[in-house]
Amino acid sequence: MRRSFVLLALLGLLAGPATAADIGNHDWRQHGEDSAERRYSPLNQISNDTVARLGLAWEQQADSRRGLEATPLVVDGVMYTTSTWSRVMALDAATGKLLWQYDPKVPKAWAKRLCCDVVNRGVAVQDGKVFVGTLDGRLLALAADNGKVLWEIDTLVDREAWYSITGAPRIVKDMVVIGNGGAEYGVRGYVTAYDMASGKQRWRFFTVPGSPDGPFENPELAEAVKTWDKDREWTGGGGTAWDSMAYDPELDLLYVGTGNGSPWARHVRSPGGGDNLFLASILALDPDTGRLAWYYQTTPGDNWDFTATQHMILADLTIEGKARKVLMQAPKNGFFYVLDRQTGELISAEKFVFTNWASHVDLKTGRPVETGLGTYKDEDKYVFPAASGGHNWHPMAFNPDTGLVYFSGREAGWVHSKHDDKWFAYGADNLSELIGEQQVPESTGFLKAWDPVQQAVVWEQALPNTWNGGVLTTAGNLVLHGTATGDFYALDARTGTVLKHIEVGTGMIAPPISYAVNGTQFIALMAGWGGPAFNTLEGDEALLRHDNAGRILAFKLDGTEVPLPPAVAPRGPLPVPPEITADAATLEEGRLLYVRYCGSCHGMYGSEPMLPDLRRMSSATHALFNRIGREGLYENAGMVSFADEISESQAESIRAYIVHLANSTRAAN
Ligand code: CA
Repeated sequence: MRRSFVLLALLGLLAGPATAADIGNHDWRQHGEDSAERRYSPLNQISNDTVARLGLAWEQQADSRRGLEATPLVVDGVMYTTSTWSRVMALDAATGKLLWQYDPKVPKAWAKRLCCDVVNRGVAVQDGKVFVGTLDGRLLALAADNGKVLWEIDTLVDREAWYSITGAPRIVKDMVVIGNGGAEYGVRGYVTAYDMASGKQRWRFFTVPGSPDGPFENPELAEAVKTWDKDREWTGGGGTAWDSMAYDPELDLLYVGTGNGSPWARHVRSPGGGDNLFLASILALDPDTGRLAWYYQTTPGDNWDFTATQHMILADLTIEGKARKVLMQAPKNGFFYVLDRQTGELISAEKFVFTNWASHVDLKTGRPVETGLGTYKDEDKYVFPAASGGHNWHPMAFNPDTGLVYFSGREAGWVHSKHDDKWFAYGADNLSELIGEQQVPESTGFLKAWDPVQQAVVWEQALPNTWNGGVLTTAGNLVLHGTATGDFYALDARTGTVLKHIEVGTGMIAPPISYAVNGTQFIALMAGWGGPAFNTLEGDEALLRHDNAGRILAFKLDGTEVPLPPAVAPRGPLPVPPEITADAATLEEGRLLYVRYCGSCHGMYGSEPMLPDLRRMSSATHALFNRIGREGLYENAGMVSFADEISESQAESIRAYIVHLANSTRAAN
């Protein structure tokens, strides 16, 4: 009798409605909530029954008008997050009150070494220390209670090379682990573990060999080098570990995703062919030694910027009746992978977007079967997915209650040009010829709920822009995410029904988190659109509706309305640019230089919404063009001098191309 009463009471606790007393305080201590990176919150005060009451708890300005990508952490009721330029903020997680901030004073000139905005994806917190990697390649430990620098080290092997750090450090045991980016700019990738207390280096794993004859700084490179043309020009190589890591304490394996080849074109990078290990790979490392346990290469001989740095989730799934310890990733290349995380064995891989470079992944060999539609050595090709990926860094989420993985991505293609050499993105203007007989999708964004056992979509939400937010899922049977168009959604995790829509105004790319303080559950995220300007779509007015002033938003039940940022006035037609006479060769030179040095911030169409649209330059700005571009006139605003890269006559070619761009846009409208 008594036993069954206790049992009933226990059942009541487990199944009953959540009350304030139930949830108490609950932190979000790690980048992916846990080291398996599930991004699943066990909190359920905000649920599909209550989420209609969701409103604003607090907001705090992030002093930024560019992309905000960080996952905030909440440790002992304090939120630690980052804004642009690797700046760190600590806030009271219940009220949003700013406790301290720290600016590592990244030199503004570093901005030109970045493909994809002055972003940072967050900090790691452990033992009273806040760890942050900076755009210019430093790793810092700050005191969690006041932001004072405890130690600071330089992680770069070469400060002249165009390295950068945008990713969040990860804590493994008593170490802090960080990689870097820069594979668009000819660097050699590596990941390093440092002693958490002192910053002293424990080990470093280079992801690609640096020369045919060594030194092989890690012994695995002696094998990897055989997959490269030894007569290649031995610079860079790529394979940068710029974002994703996960850790399984039971198997004691650290998983690291590696990036694309550098340069992109494999016929330039390794003319004799080869898989070019360890590009576009998932590495399983022994965290004590940095030695490789196994690897799986998603895109052998990468040719398309198909990084495997995308979010990896560790989960236990039942597949064909067997319990499997899996690792899941939806990298840029368009296939959703399920691997055995103990051995690296490929369990399954299926397309999650339109993909034309490979027909399928052969389960026997574990290799994609290329179609030839992606080979652009001799002719330009329109390749799907685009270089921005079917899915990019925007974190996914795995809900163990539904067994589904949720992620935002895009249907999009990219022109790879036969002219691509050390550089990329030369593009082409004969798109309809390139498409030819192929049935290709329109560019569009989505949020998908994916069944990793069946390898099939369960439901999806169509999104108008292609560059949207990361995802959170919760025990309240919810999926939560923000979009490029400034819309925050809560959906039913099982059905995809929109249960709550909050207009935020500010575009979002970062993922939400959830935590509880004193019995109140919060959902919070960074709002501020940005990233690679190559993604902006010509005429995408939805992106321009509101000012992009970055802020941190926290929601709770029975909160208030979210104040909308000032509306952006309709921009009107392009002004008439000054007349410039330039021959076709000058315009082509200007186009290539524009793509190389201007487009990644100002946009491929000259229409990036966060930074000035160069087609709209006034005659005064035209007159100052050379001084702005080569003398650093606007350096304090982040527009640094390119005097080392371009001559005065080249600057004039770029200006001629911008005028040409403005005139062709005007003629088309
Ligand atoms: Ca890349």
